[in-house]
Amino acid sequence: MFENNKNIWVYMETEEGKPKAVGFELLAPGRNLADKRGCSLVAVVIGNGVEETAKQAIAYGADQVLLLDAPEYNIYNTDVFGEAMVGLIEKYQPEGILIGATNNGRDLGPCVSCRIKTGLTADCTAIDLDGESGNIAWTRPAFGGNLMATILCPNTRPQMGTVRPGVFKKPVADESRTGEIIREQMKIPENRVELIKRVREVAESVNLDEAEIIVSGGNGVGSAENFSYIKALADILGGAVGASRAAVDNGWISHAHQVGQTGKTVAPKLYIACGISGAIQHIAGMSGSDTIIAVNKDPDAPIFSVADYGIVGDLFEVLPVLTAEFKKIKE
Ligand code: FAD
Repeated sequence: MFENNKNIWVYMETEEGKPKAVGFELLAPGRNLADKRGCSLVAVVIGNGVEETAKQAIAYGADQVLLLDAPEYNIYNTDVFGEAMVGLIEKYQPEGILIGATNNGRDLGPCVSCRIKTGLTADCTAIDLDGESGNIAWTRPAFGGNLMATILCPNTRPQMGTVRPGVFKKPVADESRTGEIIREQMKIPENRVELIKRVREVAESVNLDEAEIIVSGGNGVGSAENFSYIKALADILGGAVGASRAAVDNGWISHAHQVGQTGKTVAPKLYIACGISGAIQHIAGMSGSDTIIAVNKDPDAPIFSVADYGIVGDLFEVLPVLTAEFKKIKE
């Protein structure tokens, strides 16, 4: 039915000439899909001064690169990048396209899939080939992460999906690999968007990787101000402050503190999870800790199944007691 559609594409996002890591990460599942289908893995590099990224894409596993290199592609713009991707898709008719779920990727993916009238599975955590149908099997958490759904796109092509940064490991580069770089040119549409100002957020550096003790707070903490309870315990123990994604998404603490599948993977001597339910994506990032203590008011919270010690109680009552007791020991 889709005999004209071939090859697996990975969109390699760049900004001001520099590639985002997620593009390289996606070359790993892309390579697996291409090998299983017996087709080529094609990296799509769109940017300004990005020839080096095209070469790197080959070292990291691409067989071919479609390169759009022009000053207009220096900074992401929906119209310009959407037109470029749609033009390339119409010309080359890929079988599947993997896009990083960055802010720009989340804009580009749906824009392109709507224009070419195909499906897109967002925020995938696993990607494979469905042995029975030959479609790409896009797996993503559903119902708040309580079950994993595998989604197929059997009726339209290309099959598209986005994947959060950090889900897949960057493959090992092999500088001896060779591949073809095809320079393309697409119509640049009239720009309807004027970029007035760019503000760069200064990322906070948090040394979670090396901390021996981490005290983490989740949704149960309730507010940014209440993170003082977490911080007080972490300080007295000489540890670092971690967080679940819910706390980060609520804007209570920065992403630099996030532990889990899309945050940091940590393995401290002691991990104290406070007001964290224990979703699989959180556990994926901390289950390697030597000792885990969980404080949660719900005795059935899944976090207790990985905890070595569980305290069923209100963190606002438990944490001040723990902090005071550790303070006494220290004095
Ligand atoms: P909730 O699930 O809302 O749990 C809050 C807990 O606090 C409850 O168990 C409640 O009983 C308890 N509580 C409430 N009040 C109190 C109190 N006063 N005292 C004590 N306990 C209390 N999550 C991550 O953490 N890290 C990730 O990297 C991550 N990556 C993800 C990637 C994907 C693709 C997806 C789909 C999800 C990801 N998530 C991640 C989200 C994850 O599925 C959960 O939604 C999230 O971990 C829930 O955070 P939480 O446990 O803080 O909140």
